[in-house]
Amino acid sequence: MSGVVVNNLIKKYNNDVTALNHVNIDIKEGEFFALLGPSGCGKTTTMRCIAGFETPTSGEIFINGQVVNHVPANKRNCGMVFQSYALFPHYNVFENVAYGLTIRDFYQGGFGTKVSSFARLLSRRLAKPPKHIVNKVSEALDYVELGHLAERGTSELSGGQQQRVALARALVMEPSVLLMDEPLSNLDKKLRNTMRTTIRRIQQDVGITTIFVTHDQEEAMSMADRVAVMKDGEIIQNATPTELYSHPVNPFVADFVGSSNLFQGTIVERTTTGSVIQIDGFVLRSGFSKEANDMNVLIRPEGMNVYHKDTEINHVNIIEGKVLMHTYLGPNIRYDVKVGAHEVGIEKIYVPGERVLTNGEDVKVTVDPERVLLI
Ligand code: ADP
Ligand code: MG
Repeated sequence: MSGVVVNNLIKKYNNDVTALNHVNIDIKEGEFFALLGPSGCGKTTTMRCIAGFETPTSGEIFINGQVVNHVPANKRNCGMVFQSYALFPHYNVFENVAYGLTIRDFYQGGFGTKVSSFARLLSRRLAKPPKHIVNKVSEALDYVELGHLAERGTSELSGGQQQRVALARALVMEPSVLLMDEPLSNLDKKLRNTMRTTIRRIQQDVGITTIFVTHDQEEAMSMADRVAVMKDGEIIQNATPTELYSHPVNPFVADFVGSSNLFQGTIVERTTTGSVIQIDGFVLRSGFSKEANDMNVLIRPEGMNVYHKDTEINHVNIIEGKVLMHTYLGPNIRYDVKVGAHEVGIEKIYVPGERVLTNGEDVKVTVDPERVLLI
């Protein structure tokens, strides 16, 4: 059982800055868990407390069902990967990955006793590693598809390759938990996308419990089984990506996990199927209702559609509007449309041959009641 539980964690720096305020997390064995939030919200602090590099002010941390608060970092069996790679520049790829195993062997008494200098001993061992280390390192390098670069110096690698070495270096130790702190933030967008897939594939193959820190919602949502959204040292919502996207608990989460249209609304009627909501300048039917009359109304860009004003449409929610701007987004077109007192973003799949609505054009906007979320 290699889950991680964080229980009521509080971390104050210098008894002053409250970096973590009652953080609770329960990560199951084999789960890919993302901590998502803006810079300064406490993601790294959470990781460092789990890894044992920071002492919590209060609260408990469990790994494999055992309290580890008083277990030193090197005994927690956590593998770490950082944004900055942190490779050893004077060792080649193989040696970087072999390093941890070699040190472990040393502490387990696997080295001879004749050599006086530890550094010399280590270099010698890394240059002529025993077979069990060669096998493990080769396996780890194969996982990250770098077997062919084992002899390369790390300065001769691209950023993406360096991050693969860092990942192999963590995995080779067979940690019970893999902690990754913004590991893709230094890579360009295309490489980031490739690395997302690589990391996810390896995580699933190895089945290792993984905590992945990022400020990039797309990264968290596309990779993780579950995402905890953090703000100001607190976890605001902890849910699967689809739950987060379709049922954010508040406007902060709604806005953070994707493009959103948010309005202040008031329920003016409750129906058998939901409610009717007055928004500044127009009325919408929602498939949902709430006890409170005033609330935030969230509509995702793909929850709406837009048509030329003369198009015949039969729909429960039709609002008149005017196109302010249209933008091509690959397979989609985004329309920014003025409706009532608001501007909304609408994304429509682009069908080749379809007439694109132009800026300034009068339009009808339809809204699926099931996509009018009340939060
Ligand atoms: P994130 O990783 O989400 O960007 P951090 O965990 O690094 O956030 O930081 C959370 C808060 O704690 C921030 O306000 C930050 O300034 C503060 N903080 C982090 N590390 C230290 C430290 N060593 N000493 C004092 N304050 C710190
Ligand atoms: Mg950080």
